[in-house]
Amino acid sequence: MANLLDGKATAEKIQAELKATIQTLATKAGRPPGLAVLMVGDNPASEVYVRNKEKACTRVGIASFGQHLPTATTQTELAEKIRGLNQNSQVDGILLQLPLPNHLDAIALLHQLDPSKDVDGLHPVNLGHLVRGEPGLRSCTPAGVMRLLADYDIPVEGKDTVVVGASILVGKPMALMLLEAESTVSVAHIKTQNLAKLTREAEILVVAAGYPKLITQDMVKPGAVVIDVGINRITNYEGKSRIVGDVDFSAVEPIAQYITPVPGGIGPMTVAMLLQNTVWSYQQRI
Ligand code: NAD
Repeated sequence: MANLLDGKATAEKIQAELKATIQTLATKAGRPPGLAVLMVGDNPASEVYVRNKEKACTRVGIASFGQHLPTATTQTELAEKIRGLNQNSQVDGILLQLPLPNHLDAIALLHQLDPSKDVDGLHPVNLGHLVRGEPGLRSCTPAGVMRLLADYDIPVEGKDTVVVGASILVGKPMALMLLEAESTVSVAHIKTQNLAKLTREAEILVVAAGYPKLITQDMVKPGAVVIDVGINRITNYEGKSRIVGDVDFSAVEPIAQYITPVPGGIGPMTVAMLLQNTVWSYQQRI
């Protein structure tokens, strides 16, 4: 049976460390770190994520400057909000909760974030720092994966790693971080011809496709480290819904060396990295 990579416990440990750091720094700086999560509309999943992020902020001592805007908010109004937060000296991090309603252009808005406050690491300046291997604000989910591997002393250097998913939010920055850690990275996406052939080569397999049970037992090399980033809500025949990842957990767990649960794996690590990015940005500013 695989060892569980407990993202929840690791995230709690990181939050405790951040809380102590903030207590020390805030006394000297005269203010706590500040994070603004901007949410537009009523996407129920986003509401849960935003609430979790704000609760986590409160736990560690980060002030929340979040705003929940109506669905009808225009591009100009949202751009104006971002400009205000860019200029607000109490705010160290700004996060635009995605997805946005269809009439809004998320990419154009992300470009308007002050890169030094872009705690999601999605601004081209921060993605550029990542490509160059420079320090900076890094995409929270892949950063959370790297941190979890490090906390469990799982070596990455020289390994064959496979990332399933190539989004700008998860898959691409994940591949860059695994490359930076000197593994041999392959990236699969929706047009990949023989996914199973590729995933079976992985000593470390990271899956971020958004498709329940995409990864079955026969697609995993025995003894592999399996990181499941996926978050999918599925409903059973009784109408009860629950969250599952992209990996068929019960089938893969017996043959993997390590595996992340869903929930309780990469989700809490993502929130911990968001808080860490906010504190990093604060430290650069004070
Ligand atoms: P996305 O839809 O933007 O990208 C999905 C990627 O997976 C694409 O590159 C696509 O080509 C690839 N893909 C889809 N189906 C595939 C298949 N059958 N075979 C191979 N590749 C396939 O999604 P995203 O934003 O990258 O998120 C991916 C998943 O991770 C979702 O379930 C999302 O909810 C989850 N997620 C979790 C966290 C977290 O904190 N744990 C954070 C972000 C996203």
